[in-house]
Amino acid sequence: MSLGGILCCAHRHDSVLYRIDSCAGLPHFWAMRIVRSVAAMQRLGRSWQRAGFRVGFVPTMGYLHEGHLSLVHRARRLVGPRGKVVVSIYVNPTQFGPQEDLSRYPRDLARDAWLCREADVEVVFAPDDEQMYPRDGAGGFSTFVVEEALSRGMEGQSRPTHFRGVTTVVAKLFNIVQPNLAVFGAKDYQQAAIVKRMVRDLNFPLKIVVAPILREADGLAMSSRNKYLVGALRPQALVLRRSLEKAQAVVCKSSRPVPAARLKAELKQFIERAPAARLDYVEFFERDTLTPAPSVTRGMQMALAVFIGKTRLIDNTRL
Ligand code: AMP
Repeated sequence: MSLGGILCCAHRHDSVLYRIDSCAGLPHFWAMRIVRSVAAMQRLGRSWQRAGFRVGFVPTMGYLHEGHLSLVHRARRLVGPRGKVVVSIYVNPTQFGPQEDLSRYPRDLARDAWLCREADVEVVFAPDDEQMYPRDGAGGFSTFVVEEALSRGMEGQSRPTHFRGVTTVVAKLFNIVQPNLAVFGAKDYQQAAIVKRMVRDLNFPLKIVVAPILREADGLAMSSRNKYLVGALRPQALVLRRSLEKAQAVVCKSSRPVPAARLKAELKQFIERAPAARLDYVEFFERDTLTPAPSVTRGMQMALAVFIGKTRLIDNTRL
C-alpha cells in the first residue's frame, strides 16, 4: 500500500527522489538518484563494478513510454534484485540532422524520473550538452565513433550523420556508466545491429540485449514522437503496421521469392493512399548482415520509414 509520498532532495549537481511506501503499516524508503554530472556517474559505475554489482543500462532520449519501460523491466530481470539499473535520459544533438526535430523533441524529466522510480531504477543519468560535449578547454569535442558497414543503408541513407551521433553517444555512455549489459529496443532494428557490431569491434566488455517492439492496442509502435500525431494524423500512422502485415501476407502466400522492387512499389502506393503519408524508404534485408535482398522470402527482415505529415515514423518486422 502506497502512501504516495515523494520527496525530492537536490544537491549541487545531483538529486535524490525518495518514495515512501508502507508495508504492514511500517514506512519503507526507496531512493533513486538523478545524476547530472559525468564524473559522478563514472565514479558510481566504477564503485559498483568494484563491489561486484551487476549493472544493467537502458539508454533513452526520455519522454518515456511503456516501450522504454519494457526495456527497464528486462534490465531488472537480467541483473536481479541485487543488481543496479541505470536509465540515461539525454536528447543527443549529434544524432539529429540540421533539418530535424532536435529543438522540439518532447522532454519531461520530472515525469520520466517518476516513472523510473516506479520501475525500481537505481539511477537516472541525465547530463546536459555541456557535460556530454564540452566546448571549453583545448578546442572542445572532436572525437567520433563511426560504424562503416551496417550504417550505410536505410536510416543511414536518409539521415547521413545519424548513426555517427548514435555510436558516439552510446560509446560515451558505456564508458561513463560501465554496465555489464545494455538493453536496446528492436523498434530501432538497424541501430541495435550497429551497436552490437560496435561493441564487438571495439571490445566493450558488456552484453547487448535486444527487446521486442511494444505497440499501442491498434498496432502503432510506441514512440516519443507519437505525441506529434494530432487529430487526423494519428489514424493515418497505422499505415506502417498495415504495410508490415501486407508484406507478411504477400510473402507468406507466395510459393516463390517475391521481387523486392515489385513489393516496394505496391507498398508505396498503398502507403501514399493515406493523404498525409509519404514513404521515405522500405527495405527487405538479411537479419544479421542487413544486406538488401533483391527477392523477398519468409524469415527476412523488413523495415520502413514513413512521414505522417512532418513526423517521421519507423517500424520493422520479421517476415
Ligand atoms: P529513444 O528514446 O527513442 O532513443 O529509445 C530508447 C530505446 O528505447 C531504444 O533502444 C529504442 O529502440 C527503444 N524503444 C523505443 N520505442 C520502443 C518500443 N515501442 N518498443 C520497444 N523498445 C522501444
